[in-house]
Amino acid sequence: MTQAPPVEIRRASDDDRVTARPDDPPRTNGHRALLSHLRPQRTRMLAGVLLGLLGSLMGLAQPLAAKHVMDDMGRGQPAAGPVVALSALVVAGGILAGLGHYVLDRSAEAVVCAARRRLTDRLLRLRVPVVERTEPGDLIARATSDTALLRQSAPQAVSAAVTGTLITAATVVMMGLLDAVLLGVTLAVIAFVGVVVAVVSPRIGRATRHTQEAVGRIGAALERALGAFRTLKASGAEQREAAVLHRAAEHARRTGVRAAAWEAVSATVSAVVVQICFLVVLGVGGARVTSGAIGVSTLVAFLLYLFALAPRIGQLVDGVGQFQIGSAAAARIREVEELEVEDVGVPGVAALAPPGQEPLPATVAFHEVRFAYRPGLPDVHRRVSFTVPGCGLTAFVGPSGAGKTTAFSLIERFYEPDAGRVSLDGKDVREWPLAELRANIGYVEQDSPVLAGTLRDNLTLGVGEATADQLHHVLRLARLEGVADRLPQGLDTDVGHRGCRLSGGERQRVAIARALLRRPRLLLLDEATSQLDAANEAALRDTVADAARTTTVLVVAHRLSTVTTADRIVVMEAGCVRAVGTHAQLLARDSLYRELATTQLLHR
Ligand code: ADP
Repeated sequence: MTQAPPVEIRRASDDDRVTARPDDPPRTNGHRALLSHLRPQRTRMLAGVLLGLLGSLMGLAQPLAAKHVMDDMGRGQPAAGPVVALSALVVAGGILAGLGHYVLDRSAEAVVCAARRRLTDRLLRLRVPVVERTEPGDLIARATSDTALLRQSAPQAVSAAVTGTLITAATVVMMGLLDAVLLGVTLAVIAFVGVVVAVVSPRIGRATRHTQEAVGRIGAALERALGAFRTLKASGAEQREAAVLHRAAEHARRTGVRAAAWEAVSATVSAVVVQICFLVVLGVGGARVTSGAIGVSTLVAFLLYLFALAPRIGQLVDGVGQFQIGSAAAARIREVEELEVEDVGVPGVAALAPPGQEPLPATVAFHEVRFAYRPGLPDVHRRVSFTVPGCGLTAFVGPSGAGKTTAFSLIERFYEPDAGRVSLDGKDVREWPLAELRANIGYVEQDSPVLAGTLRDNLTLGVGEATADQLHHVLRLARLEGVADRLPQGLDTDVGHRGCRLSGGERQRVAIARALLRRPRLLLLDEATSQLDAANEAALRDTVADAARTTTVLVVAHRLSTVTTADRIVVMEAGCVRAVGTHAQLLARDSLYRELATTQLLHR
């Protein structure tokens, strides 16, 4: 596992974030982060800049060529040659400048694409507890909106930096050759502009960062609202949620305007200061001409250089602003890249065991496990110990909050115990390669998540391809053939966002079929707490019983029908295992179990 300092990405539901303080120190060095994004593209960017420069130089040569054309024509000489040369210069200059632009934009797209790939890769490998501390909508905004800002600011900043610096340096050298005193005046002005930029540009970065944070909040609030859309409507909460979104949008507008204002300040100050520089150079230069220190022609030449320098200074100032914007985005991206990820080995899909070759059922053991979700929270498991032999059905029962689902999370190694050990086949789960551990396990969560996409996509999640026979087999096991036949395009029917076009029972069986398709050595099934109809209930019981014949099945049971068919039942209470036995044994000797069996388990 990659160890990295924990980075707190604040939750969007905290309303106080809407009024984020403008003086928050940047949490990550954005400049370094931005440069690390640009570095792989430096050669291409430089090529783009040089092409652009070449195009500009050809533009500079055009007036000279035009002069030749006119001189030739004045002397009555044929001007065809120079006209062709001039046209070629115009076309070549245009092509080179266009090409430079294209190469720069291409490299900017490559920067964004690389950032998005790296970020999305990392997002999917984040540790479960880390994701619980974040807002998915904000993470999505970082992968989409912040990376887009890199595209916007990277080429401009690089091009301005290289071109502006080169031309400024060359012009300053030429000025130095003309007159050192006037150069001194000019450099003093450039230094002043530098100070202004140094003061203003961090403010552009900060304002941009706050804008992006507000964009993250919009993403988070939208994700929250659309994720529970029906509940939102049923509760009549549209207006309240809209107000949260409006506040975030308003905050984004305010900080966006603030960034624009600082950009305007730096652009205006630099423009005005350069104008003043003209006047001062004119005044000082005039005095030097009068005193005979320099000639008029020197002053004129100096002023011409100053004219050429002015737009370059503006370009540099603008480039610094763009760099700050890119740095703010890069800092937010870096924060995600610093979150702790799991080492799941080489990414890829789990290979299905060949048909007819039944994988051996796994054994599971908890030994004195102690676990709390976070330091400072009470222990959810206090001293949990139990052993499950290979094969058969083991049911976990206990009051809500006893720690049953947590036991499954520890087996999947979504979290790690604070003390004790959880083992699969006698080997501590921490010693298993993570991908291999999980490939051995089929996990059906309580709310049976079904993803947007087709039924086939849902079944083959994580295994890529499966043959028609394999799919048919698990559909039959999960009693889903009827559903697949009824859907308009069979397995290729879109099941909607979170499987909204399927019923609750169907979703659960899709999740079971998906888990079974992996031919797991261990099936973890967190039963739905809601009442199923008689047909679904019987279908589910048969499916689980079938599976338990060939593989180890652990069920968090909420139904009497599940516990009565279980080979063994683990009774949990307040983070401890209270008793283990069969239904009959526990009825006879455990009072809590008796009470659960008679009053709390779903009777059908
Ligand atoms: P059960 O499945 O027995 O109902 P759980 O294992 O789901 O119980 O939860 C046990 C306790 O842990 C509960 O008090 C619950 O509030 C807490 N809990 C569960 N998941 C988390 C989590 N991700 N973060 C913090 N606390 C949690």
